[in-house]
Amino acid sequence: MSANTTTATSFLAQRMSVIKPSPSMAAKRRVDQLRAEGKEIVDFTIGEPDLPTPAHIAQAGIAAIQRGAAKYTASAGIRELLVAVQQKFQRENQLSFELDQLVVGTGAKQLIFSALQATLNAGDEVIIPTPYWVSYPDMVLLNDGKPVILPTTEAQNFKITPESLEAAITPRTKWLLLNAPNNPSGAIYTEAELKALLDVLARHPQVLLMVDEIYEHFCYDGVYISALTVRPELAPRVMLVNGVSKAYAMTGWRIGYAAAPAWLAKAISTLISQSTSCASQICQIAAATALTADQQCVADTVTIYKERRDTIVRMLNDIEGMSCASPAGAFYVFPNVQGFVGKQTPDGKTITNDLDFVHYLLDAAGVAVLDGTAYGNPGYLRMSFATDLETIKTGCEKIAQACRQLQ
Ligand code: PMP
Ligand code: GLU
Repeated sequence: MSANTTTATSFLAQRMSVIKPSPSMAAKRRVDQLRAEGKEIVDFTIGEPDLPTPAHIAQAGIAAIQRGAAKYTASAGIRELLVAVQQKFQRENQLSFELDQLVVGTGAKQLIFSALQATLNAGDEVIIPTPYWVSYPDMVLLNDGKPVILPTTEAQNFKITPESLEAAITPRTKWLLLNAPNNPSGAIYTEAELKALLDVLARHPQVLLMVDEIYEHFCYDGVYISALTVRPELAPRVMLVNGVSKAYAMTGWRIGYAAAPAWLAKAISTLISQSTSCASQICQIAAATALTADQQCVADTVTIYKERRDTIVRMLNDIEGMSCASPAGAFYVFPNVQGFVGKQTPDGKTITNDLDFVHYLLDAAGVAVLDGTAYGNPGYLRMSFATDLETIKTGCEKIAQACRQLQ
């Protein structure tokens, strides 16, 4: 054991042993490293819009800097943004919140983490349907909770059912964590499906519901309906998480927002006050512009993404052995690659699972994707189509060529 290893293992807290780096962030870093080494990589890893932040929003940030609005703010967020969030919920979801039910964070990620930190006691259970965003289970573990993974299958369109939910609930269940449109499957619950799930929750008053709606606007075949719009009377137990990262191509601005019962919004804001103090004032001002200005930029974005979705789905389905359902929302495809298990690569290795397939695509085709295993559904790939059509076409052609070489 090297001196460095001894030092690291003896100084690190035990909690570090229960988590790993975010697989999506790690995959992106690997792509950056390979590119720095001069390799050509087609990148389908990270879920990050390639489009620039719309000019009027960027301009609001620049103007904020120029007028010196670069100070600490209230931990829950500046009033201007909280009011913009309040109006957004009213306008788009027909939901009314008081300002003390709203909180702004450094990305939706911080708000999900803080909500769990504020509520989980050791051993409290959090129901997480598969496929799940890679950070949910680790966030639960880091806060002493127990992730209860609720499997779904492609045959059920990767959606949980009232029966499976009922069976997963125990007296220790603290949260059901729903994400719709889903990263990575794109699944969106219909109003009737939501009603049936919420009927189950209504019978279990110890369970809180968190709905991660960060992909709300990326809804290609209809209009998104929020669980709370369906059952507003559940508001005392529901937290809605959202943010500007995806809809306005603002990932690096790091602004998320949530609506929750006032006691929870306050607890999250207390945690923020003791951790990051507040989100950046400059970015909060830009986010307020994003939410209050003309929303045509969002509609334009969704039109662009719909074409990307249709292209990637068509090209992947043209590959023998692969099948790719068309995602209803978000900006990922989750193709089934079980048809390649057992095949041999040109250099004699056997593909035994989706992880082997991911490595093969990177080595043989220079295409970076993520494995379904990381999302709780082995046998699938996750590919982000938040990238330009040329990249999508080139990447799919390279994947097709690599697949043809498997025997
Ligand atoms: N939820 C889901 C499902 C995501 O995919 C992401 C990815 N960024 C987030 C939350 C976090 O978004 P952000 O922190 O950028 O607001
Ligand atoms: N949510 C994005 C993704 O799934 C960004 C990366 C992350 O935050 O993990 O790729």
